[in-house]
Amino acid sequence: MKVVLANKIGPCFGVERAFKVALQAAKTPGPLTALGALVHHPEGIRRLEQAGIRTVRKLEEIEEGRVIISAHGVPPATIKQAKERGLDVVDATCPLVYLIHRTAREFHASGRQVIILGDKEHREVRGIAGCIPHPVVIKGPQDVSALPDYQKVGLVSQSTKRAETLAATTAALRKRYRDVAVAEYTICRPVRDRQLAIRDLAPLTDLIVIVGGKNSANTREMVQAAQEHGARVVHVEGAHELDPESFRGARTVGLAGGASTPLETIHEVAHALEAMPPQA
Ligand code: SF4
Repeated sequence: MKVVLANKIGPCFGVERAFKVALQAAKTPGPLTALGALVHHPEGIRRLEQAGIRTVRKLEEIEEGRVIISAHGVPPATIKQAKERGLDVVDATCPLVYLIHRTAREFHASGRQVIILGDKEHREVRGIAGCIPHPVVIKGPQDVSALPDYQKVGLVSQSTKRAETLAATTAALRKRYRDVAVAEYTICRPVRDRQLAIRDLAPLTDLIVIVGGKNSANTREMVQAAQEHGARVVHVEGAHELDPESFRGARTVGLAGGASTPLETIHEVAHALEAMPPQA
């Protein structure tokens, strides 16, 4: 099968940086635990385990040693609690995520009700929400009508949200409130580039394969973007999940990867697709 690679693939700089910070920290002896997945991809997690880095979901599960904060960041209270528990903190929070924290604080300090566009349960959103009192989290423009009245609002977005969702939410807020400040820059550029690459691939291919963790927010947004551009989509975590049945009628296949998918995994999928005969 013919494979067309997206023009942006491989991990974003925030995930790469977190990975490097973690592997560097693993060179120093002593227990090292990641609080939450450092990468949302099984292959990346396997590589961390090989380096002796354990991953847990809650701070309470870490008895001693050092704790690594993932690129998604955490609420400031979590860092404080970690230190109170006697843990050393290795902070791999992405600088872009810290920019969102700072923006939320600035909106709050200027008297705005902070509204976060994102998934309430996502680690990054919990981290942003923990920076300010009384944040409100919404999923999109559909949630705006149920919000209370506010004098002034400030909108920040989870980094992986789509620019189209942010634009629609901004428009809904501007209809509802007189004074709305929006930090468009809180949408992550590397994620946006990957979404635009999908848009470019859609008309050139019969089907798009997106490689990324099933629990990765940015990968799910890519899948949604591809579907909205009318593409047939196959979402896999690696080459082992490719099912020839899903490729019936496809001759040219687009290939893209989420922001935490290792390049090696994308190349393995590319080779497997190239070796797959066209399915009638
Ligand atoms: S997706 Fe963007 S915000 Fe998230 S870690 Fe990567 S570069 Fe940072």
